Amino acid sequence: MTLLRFRVAAAAACLLTVNVFAQVPDLSDVTIVTTPLGDGMYMLEATGDVAGNIAVSAGEDGILIVDDQFAGLTDQILDALREVSSGQLRYIINTHHHDDHSDGNASLVSQTGATIIAHDNARQRLSSKPAGHWPTITTSAGLSIHFNGQKITAFAVPGGHTDNDIIVFFEPAGVVHMGDLFNSARTSFPLAHLAAGGNALRILDNIERILPMIPWDAQVIAGHGPLSDRAGLVDLRDMLAFTIDFVERRKKSGRSLGEIQAEGFPAEYDEWAGYITADAWTEMIYASLP
Ligand SMILES: [Zn+2]
Repeated sequence: MTLLRFRVAAAAACLLTVNVFAQVPDLSDVTIVTTPLGDGMYMLEATGDVAGNIAVSAGEDGILIVDDQFAGLTDQILDALREVSSGQLRYIINTHHHDDHSDGNASLVSQTGATIIAHDNARQRLSSKPAGHWPTITTSAGLSIHFNGQKITAFAVPGGHTDNDIIVFFEPAGVVHMGDLFNSARTSFPLAHLAAGGNALRILDNIERILPMIPWDAQVIAGHGPLSDRAGLVDLRDMLAFTIDFVERRKKSGRSLGEIQAEGFPAEYDEWAGYITADAWTEMIYASLP
């Protein structure tokens, strides 16, 4: 319940263009669950979905992770990494600047000396925090790290969830980390964080852009929610296309936001409501439309 209140508050505040992502939920009962993905790769999840999922590549070159949750979970994350590898943490890729994905930066860097990689705009958005949080390698397009026998590509797709979204591909492992463009298993409508350069229509554009790049047998790590696959992304794409078209048609015909929310999406979309409700998602689309 703590989590639900936290994320509902975050979503509501987002609509008011107030950033409350600096708030930290209660982490006292949280544990880190490790799922092996093969090829030296793992997914780390915080119980209760209090923080973003982590991708791990462990092998002869050391350890690379994608996202690092809250600083309060750093010790548990390091314990989980030691369970799978004695190697050194060398690289941290941030999928975007939100605290539930990047707040562990400084504590992990101070303990391991790891290098943080992120979008140019993530460094800007983290600039109000102490320097240990700042990415030292940044890109506005993309870059690849050749590590543990994998080509690990941080691919910039800004403008959907935030202005600094990055998706990470691991080849040949066939693993993809989607960041917060994706809440898997219909656990929630997505968040377009408008105050941080997000846009609901761009979430759809970016999902359509990257779908052809996702192998048929890919293991897809969502920003939040269980391990997913390409079919999960197709399901997301279909929902985005329908709901955006639904709101766009009605806005063009002169309906107010309140009228569109009162009508609501068809019942088959009810299960997508999570920390982003149908009303909140409708408002994000409405505000994102030109
Ligand atoms: Zn986020």
